[in-house]
This record gives sequence, structure tokens and C-alpha cells, in this order.
Amino acid sequence: MVILDGKKTSSKILAEVKNRVSTMNIVPHLAVILVGENPASIIYVNNKKKAAEQVGIKSTIIKMEKDITEQYLLDEIAELNNDNTVTGILVQLPLPEHINKNNIITAISPQKDVDGFHPENVGKLVSGIEPYFYPATPQGILMLTDEYNIPLEGKHAVVIGRSNIVGKPMGQMLLKRNATVTMCHSYTNNLDEIIKTADLVVSAVGKKIVRCKMVRKNSVVIDVGIFKDSNGKLTGDVDFDIVSPSCGFITPVPGGVGPMTIASLMYNASKVYP
Ligand code: NAP
Repeated sequence: MVILDGKKTSSKILAEVKNRVSTMNIVPHLAVILVGENPASIIYVNNKKKAAEQVGIKSTIIKMEKDITEQYLLDEIAELNNDNTVTGILVQLPLPEHINKNNIITAISPQKDVDGFHPENVGKLVSGIEPYFYPATPQGILMLTDEYNIPLEGKHAVVIGRSNIVGKPMGQMLLKRNATVTMCHSYTNNLDEIIKTADLVVSAVGKKIVRCKMVRKNSVVIDVGIFKDSNGKLTGDVDFDIVSPSCGFITPVPGGVGPMTIASLMYNASKVYP
């Protein structure tokens, strides 16, 4: 069994991004909007800023009070869309409940939508047209499997979770790589039986869901989930100790998909459209 080292691979990708940025004739500039004071969001935003600094991308964090109006946020996004010195825009989710997330995502220029969540980018992905940006987490997962030369074509990929940020785009991106994709969610019957038939499992749920020894021999297990267990320890969806002896490749938590998401986001943030 091989552990897919997200830390090492992300360092390599970040070094490549840094190298490319250093040869560009403009410095990419990422604007990150943070609404409110969600502690996890503050950590994520600071990590993104740190990673941007590391690769030579300028970043600006725009902090807003949690009780701003949706229109206020839309106006700020319109300004950033029109600002030629800003090349990427990211609104940290979740947003306060009174703000409609979809209106905000749709307001960002698709050419600056480094998260790849804008309906134009999503629609392009689904239609087989090259989007301006792919969502960071699934793109980072494919960067990791590519690094380990894991073939995907013709393989049976089982994606657990159907969120807009991970599961759905993951499924589409695996289809694009000619995998045969099964999408699973909370209404899926016989999940364990489906997992048994997978060459690749991507679990993005946020609960201990892949507990069985039943992953196929030599299969690839990607654990996207990250949450705290009852002892406050960071853990993933996959019971690593039980599953790892049976599979071919597996990501650890932490140190697997998390660092790849950041590297993939920086890859996106280094892309500049006129
Ligand atoms: P999410 O929006 O919370 O959705 C969870 C998905 O899991 C839903 O599609 C849900 O199905 C499905 N689900 C829930 N219980 C299930 C069950 N018993 N069996 C099968 N499917 C079940 O998901 P997310 O935002 O993608 O996040 C998922 C996890 O990944 C979280 O732990 C999050 O912190 C982590 N994450 C990590 C990274 C990273 O970079 N490492 C990035 C993003 C997310 P329904 O649709 O039917 O409700």
C-alpha cells in the first residue's frame, strides 16, 4: 500500500506555480472576501494568504461585518470585477444565512472565479468545454493521482458526496478522464456493496463512512473529509487502519487532500485572463 503524500506533492506544485509566477509580466492579485468571524473561515483565509505569499501572488483580504446586506457584498464584487489590478476573486464560504450564496457566486466574473463555482464554469465543465477554472479540491485530487501515475481511464470511480464544491465536480472531472463514475449520497442503498466494486473511491462526506475492509485489493482511496472526532482529533471519512491494508493507494488525513486543495487553488490564482 502506498500513501499518497499530499504535503510533498503540494510543495512540488507550489514550487511550479512560484516559478511560473516569477516569469509572468504581471503579478496575479487574489482578492479574498471574508464575511463575519467564523473561526474556521478565518483559518482558511489566512492559510490562503500565506500560500499566496509563498508563491509570489499578491493577496488582499477584505473583511466585512456579518450583518452587511447582500447588496453591499454584490457592490464590492462588482468593483473587484471592474478592477484590472485584481485577477482573482474568492468569497469564503459559508456566508451568513441572510445572504444568498448563489447570487454571490454568480456575481463574480467567471474569468476571476478562482474557486470555479460560477455557473458558467460549472456549465462548461459539464458541457465538455474548457472552463476558466476547475474547482480546487477535485483538481487537486487529480493532480495527486497524476503525480503517482494512477490510471483513471476505464476505471470504476465511486464518489461519495454530491456537494457543488467537491462531489459533483469530482464526478464530472473523472468522467472527463474516461472513468466510469458512480455518484453516492445519503440516499444511496448498499453503499458498502458499491464500494466493493470500485477501483477508485473518493469520499467527501464529513462522517466516518468508509469503515469496511471491503475496498478492492489495489484500489485507490481518496479521503476528502476532515472533521474532529469525539476526542477533538482531526480525522477523515475513511477508517485508515482498517482500510489501508486492503487498498493499493490511500490519502492520509491530515496531509492528503487538504494541502492539495491549497496548491490547486494557488495554481488557479496564478492564471490570469485578459
Ligand atoms: P457537504 O456539502 O457537507 O455534503 C456532504 C455530502 O455527503 C452530501 O452530498 C450528503 O448527501 C453526503 N452524505 C451524508 N451522509 C451520507 C451517508 N451516510 N452516506 C453517503 N453520503 C452521505 O460536503 P462537502 O462540502 O463536500 O464536504 C465534505 C467533507 O469534505 C467535509 O468533511 C469537509 O470539511 C471536507 N472538505 C475537505 C476539503 C479539503 O480540502 N480537504 C475541501 C472541501 C471539503 P446528500 O446530498 O444526500 O445530503
